[in-house]
Amino acid sequence: TFRAMVIDAVDGKPKGAFRDISVADLPDHDVLVEIACSTLNYKDGLAITGKGRIARRMPMMGGVDLSGTVLESRSPEWKPGDKVVLNGWGLSETEWGAYGRYQRVKPEWLIPLPDAFSMEQAMAIGTAGYTSALCVDALEKWGTIKPGEGEVLVTGAAGGVGSVAIALLAARGYNVTASTGRPETHDYLASLGATNFVDRATLAEKGGPLQKERWTGGVDSVGSTTLVNALAQTVRGGAIAACGLAGGADLPGTVLPHILRAVTLIGVDSVFATREQRMSAWARLARDLDKAKLGSMTTVEPMSNLPRLAEDIVAGRIRGRVVIDVMAV
Ligand code: NAP
Repeated sequence: TFRAMVIDAVDGKPKGAFRDISVADLPDHDVLVEIACSTLNYKDGLAITGKGRIARRMPMMGGVDLSGTVLESRSPEWKPGDKVVLNGWGLSETEWGAYGRYQRVKPEWLIPLPDAFSMEQAMAIGTAGYTSALCVDALEKWGTIKPGEGEVLVTGAAGGVGSVAIALLAARGYNVTASTGRPETHDYLASLGATNFVDRATLAEKGGPLQKERWTGGVDSVGSTTLVNALAQTVRGGAIAACGLAGGADLPGTVLPHILRAVTLIGVDSVFATREQRMSAWARLARDLDKAKLGSMTTVEPMSNLPRLAEDIVAGRIRGRVVIDVMAV
């Protein structure tokens, strides 16, 4: 048996708690993985605290991401000893997740651990960082952001998605403006590559439908009025890649930026991204993400701290990325 973080109903509400699980309890998927590390994403916080309805069936083993080594495989795609990464695919929602020493998964959910990263670094990136790469991929594909020209906005800047997005954009030469509610993180954000700051409160207030054009593009993990204002401040033809709801799931805006300035709202979903999109995002991370910057945004925590960390991330108190040592419990 091994210790796992399991979400189950307590008084009718989902809540995470540690439980002993045996390998025989795991789902009957084709690849058995020994998990080296997992991580803490906003979604993990919602799942463990029960503040969001993440686990769609219970009991549900939590944990959205894993890095690890294949132990057994009934699929020709993988063999024992292969080093792998898994992001999303419904883990901790409809499929048992990564908060424990072992998991059985479908072969098509796995990608090879990129040579550029250790198991721990892959989880320092995790879904948050890989989603940042999907967002930058989407903006570059859209084609209106230009290195050295204009400003690219990153909201929720000191969080996981925001921190990695800043590092990736700065590495490609874009001028990055960081929106944060924590002025004490300005030095940290500048060290990642942000050259300008906006107070998140000014973006969170309701504003006009068309405001002064400022952003050639943006990565938004906040949603709500913040995203609406970002769109209203985007230059003609520009685009915002939206992936998050840390400030709210509503979108209280108008169509005016879209129909009068041809501004585009690009939706980014990491959970069911195609293999091609995943490989492209991880290739970007391997090429552009500076290891020293990744180290400076990462803390490693024992799994036993998950209940407290889950509260912290939902409250917006986590800076950068947290790796979870699944053996330390
Ligand atoms: P995180 O580390 O907690 O970062 C979120 C950041 O948002 C916080 O650090 C904070 O930044 C800001 N924030 C928090 N509460 C806010 C509020 N009430 N109003 C305005 N800003 C607020 O979380 P994460 O793991 O980076 O995830 C960020 C978001 O992206 C989450 O909503 C998550 O669900 C979403 N996400 C989506 C996908 C996808 O596939 N679509 C993938 C990954 C993540 P400052 O302190 O700097 O202001």
